[in-house]
Amino acid sequence: MTDTPDQPAAPSFRGDMTVELVKHSAADTDVLWAARVSTGGEKSLEELHKDPQRSKGLINYLMRDRHGSPFEHNSMTFFISAPLFVFREFHRHRVGWSYNEESGRYRELQPVFYTPAPTRKLVQQGRPGKYEFVEGTPEQHELTSSAMQESYRQAYETYQRLLAGGVAREVARAVLPVGLYSSMYATCNARSLMHFLGLRTQHEQAKVPSFPQREIEMVGELMEEQWSKLMPLTYEAFNANGRVAP
Ligand SMILES: Cc1cc2nc3c(=O)[nH]c(=O)nc-3n(C[C@H](O)[C@H](O)[C@H](O)COP(=O)(O)OP(=O)(O)OC[C@H]3O[C@@H](n4cnc5c(N)ncnc54)[C@H](O)[C@@H]3O)c2cc1C
Repeated sequence: MTDTPDQPAAPSFRGDMTVELVKHSAADTDVLWAARVSTGGEKSLEELHKDPQRSKGLINYLMRDRHGSPFEHNSMTFFISAPLFVFREFHRHRVGWSYNEESGRYRELQPVFYTPAPTRKLVQQGRPGKYEFVEGTPEQHELTSSAMQESYRQAYETYQRLLAGGVAREVARAVLPVGLYSSMYATCNARSLMHFLGLRTQHEQAKVPSFPQREIEMVGELMEEQWSKLMPLTYEAFNANGRVAP
């Protein structure tokens, strides 16, 4: 009996991002003992198990006066699935971040592609730095989905044709578009996450508004949701002080 070769997977399309918190060591008390070593030395270790609520004011003071280093003694690792164009922006964040991403050299890339959800505002107005996005018409949404899908299918077929012709994965992948989903681990600390959120999300409490691409903002919002539960006092102080990383 001969084996039938695996059929390539059929392309699939999605408009969401996923963020899973896979590992963490992060709490408001981490900020407190790190800050208290300044004045308490070895006595700061007593802060390790104290109720952080009693020291809410200290966290707020550190955030307000931008004493940033006490916010670095913690760690969060996220597993993120998002299109390549999101990761391209993400990897610009160099400080306090570690990344590992799936490889297009060592594995055959799976045909999962981005098409905007119906809630994604489609039409851009204004000028660079002052863009405003407004809803698209049903026809624009239909055009976007169908044209993207057609283009993705064609690109993936070409990728498969190159692989079937014996071309190396690292060469064949050149035909795949930036709407292809990838996955990565991203590890950060509260300080580097706050810097990311200040730039990659829009928020009514932001003292310095930013205008990020919606898709990276979706990733940021999911990370923010997870982090806010781990370090509620730090999160509150971040918002209260205009969402500027200390
Ligand atoms: C809305 C928006 C639009 C953007 N548009 C573009 C664009 O059109 N083109 C483009 O190329 N990029 C663009 N970017 C990316 C942007 O320029 C930054 O690369 C990205 O936001 C990462 O910010 P960062 O350098 O502050 O972060 P990190 O790399 O994490 O650095 C954190 C901080 O460390 C310090 N730091 C890091 N490296 C250095 C260094 N070499 N020297 C001195 N200080 C350093 C800085 O204080 C910096 O803020 C855009 C970003 C946003 C949010």
